[in-house]
Amino acid sequence: MPELPEVEVVRRGLDAHVVDKAITAVRVHHPRAVRRHEAGPADLTARLLGARIVGTGRRGKYLWLTLDDGSALVVHLGMSGQMLLGDVPNENHLRIAALLDDGTALSFVDQRTFGGWMLADIVTVDGSDVPAPVAHLARDPLDPQFNRDSVVTVLRRKHSEIKRQLLDQTVVSGIGNIYADEALWRARLHGGRLASSLSRRQLGELLDASATVMSEALGQGGTSFDSLYVNVNGESGYFERSLDAYGREGEPCRRCGAVMRREKFMNRSSYYCPKCQPRPRVRR
Ligand SMILES: [Zn+2]
Repeated sequence: MPELPEVEVVRRGLDAHVVDKAITAVRVHHPRAVRRHEAGPADLTARLLGARIVGTGRRGKYLWLTLDDGSALVVHLGMSGQMLLGDVPNENHLRIAALLDDGTALSFVDQRTFGGWMLADIVTVDGSDVPAPVAHLARDPLDPQFNRDSVVTVLRRKHSEIKRQLLDQTVVSGIGNIYADEALWRARLHGGRLASSLSRRQLGELLDASATVMSEALGQGGTSFDSLYVNVNGESGYFERSLDAYGREGEPCRRCGAVMRREKFMNRSSYYCPKCQPRPRVRR
């Protein structure tokens, strides 16, 4: 599943190529890809025709193209969605095809079709213009207006596991399972510790680690920014090689050498170092 850095790579790639272009043709190849657009495929197509793209945006893992009529084309990448510019190498998974006024094809390709497009109004929340379906999401750690201290204050009141809070998009958005484990490893905290049991300093360092690890991943994705072929591989994730925690069960901790462990958490896996990130004692 693409996480924030992958989505931001896509946004930057799109921003460089689609802003100030108008949409001259749209064809929905699979209705499932527009199921979130409640007015249906014909409405989406009619409203996109002739619309000019005036900007791009992202909050957490949500991406959108801002249109000149004040609405936004919200793109859900889902598990395997891709926004492609130019030729589509394999049309088997082509879900939506659009054409820009410079002749460039803009396509939504999605093997598993969990993602899709929808049109939404832009609303102003907390000083930022965001599409209405995104308005409930908290700012993400890479947002220039992210308020670390106020998020720390929110976390201090939460009597549940810190990893659960990191994944709660209404507390802080954009942190998925992989980067939660990476941030917890860097901050030397076990994800099962209660948020309310951590100090302001520990919580601040954890949020800083979240921002740093995602910024670094973003830096590694930089090579694709100039490419006309904007691509997200949701299955493998191309930042995988630099991960310190996620997926490293049985391997030595890169800090202390202890054998990394994996445990089940919220129907997913958590990876951690038992020495640097000791489990909390069970209280009854
Ligand atoms: Zn360690």
